[in-house]
Amino acid sequence: MTSTRFDIIVIGAGISGLTSALALRESGASVALLDRGPPGTEASWAGGGILCPLYAWRYPTPVLAMAAEGMRRYPALIDSLDSRIDPERIVSGMRILDPVGPGETRDGITTTLAQAGIQHEWQPGDDQPALWLPEVANVRNPRLLEALVDTVRARGIELFAHRAGQEVLARSGRVEGVRTPASDLAAERVVVAAGAWSKTLVPGMREDSLFPVRGQMLRLEPRAQNGLDHILMDEGVYLIPRVDGSVVIGSTVEHAGFDKTVDDTAQARLHAAACRLWPSLAGARITHRWAGLRPGSVDELPVLGEHPAIEGLWVNTGGFRNGLAMAPATADLLAGMMTGKPTTLDPAPYRVERLLDT
Ligand SMILES: Cc1cc2nc3c(=O)[nH]c(=O)nc-3n(C[C@H](O)[C@H](O)[C@H](O)COP(=O)(O)OP(=O)(O)OC[C@H]3O[C@@H](n4cnc5c(N)ncnc54)[C@H](O)[C@@H]3O)c2cc1C
Repeated sequence: MTSTRFDIIVIGAGISGLTSALALRESGASVALLDRGPPGTEASWAGGGILCPLYAWRYPTPVLAMAAEGMRRYPALIDSLDSRIDPERIVSGMRILDPVGPGETRDGITTTLAQAGIQHEWQPGDDQPALWLPEVANVRNPRLLEALVDTVRARGIELFAHRAGQEVLARSGRVEGVRTPASDLAAERVVVAAGAWSKTLVPGMREDSLFPVRGQMLRLEPRAQNGLDHILMDEGVYLIPRVDGSVVIGSTVEHAGFDKTVDDTAQARLHAAACRLWPSLAGARITHRWAGLRPGSVDELPVLGEHPAIEGLWVNTGGFRNGLAMAPATADLLAGMMTGKPTTLDPAPYRVERLLDT
């Protein structure tokens, strides 16, 4: 163990770890943040940056509540950044052409969205009415992550890049620190925010509890004639307009283990669907293709809370398809629980216990 001792070590510098570290630092704690690679280059980098769940009413209530709270908190998060990098959050709105799925009704969707405080209106559509969500924003997530890294450094959080947390060290049911290849680091408390890789760092997690879910994306070159100024969604495919005129297209949902391969068939399907949805995209050059691994959980809920058998071991993962949208809310809830401050949301649905071996 090194002689340096931190109040808190956060493992994983994606959106969950970066926002958690910042929220915890506010209480005056000394915080270290470890990433086994460059910070902010996994799921949080790969995501679309839509700050609202897709077909939001289909998620369990605790996911929608967390995402809606995250959406409300984003402007303050962006304002608080200590960086010259602009994350390019734009309130573009989102239009969904096929909102009413099997077994759903317009009234049911209206009620759920109203309860979550998500503004919406119905518009005439082709096969069915379209749903317009005027307040939905999107953010250029790779830029947001860079700005968060700058902010973490500016706030005195010790960032260890290329330093894997190999194991959480605990004795007699109490956290002592983190084992890393270079040395063991001592800490009072540890937060596991290692995205899809979190399971092995949390003792006792059930085999089926947490897993990676691959998503493939592509991006089209900026062109004036792209002409898309809002997020457009149909049959699970979405188009996101960026500030520079480029358009991001997503996404697949694949259970393929820890494999980030991009495959031509899936990419061609996404591209063709996008050109059908917004014909002026035809002819735009594909500039990037990529895949990322979402941190999935077996009940689709985030995993947030203290380990029941290891005092001082906390978890913040399971963002699945909404980890970017939820991040300011999950970080705030985690920090509230860890510092004993009152929290806006009830933490009960997210607790770690539900995913542990009994
Ligand atoms: C294609 C795609 C599209 C998406 N679109 C959206 C969207 O539009 N809106 C939205 O809200 N969400 C979206 N998501 C989901 C969102 O990106 C994720 O839920 C979120 O980024 C998860 O963040 P995270 O910090 O938990 O994980 P990650 O970003 O994966 O970060 C985990 C970090 O932990 C590090 N790590 C892992 N193991 C260790 C270790 N042992 N030691 C140290 N560090 C370690 C990794 O290197 C990584 O940096 C999308 C995801 C994908 C893949």
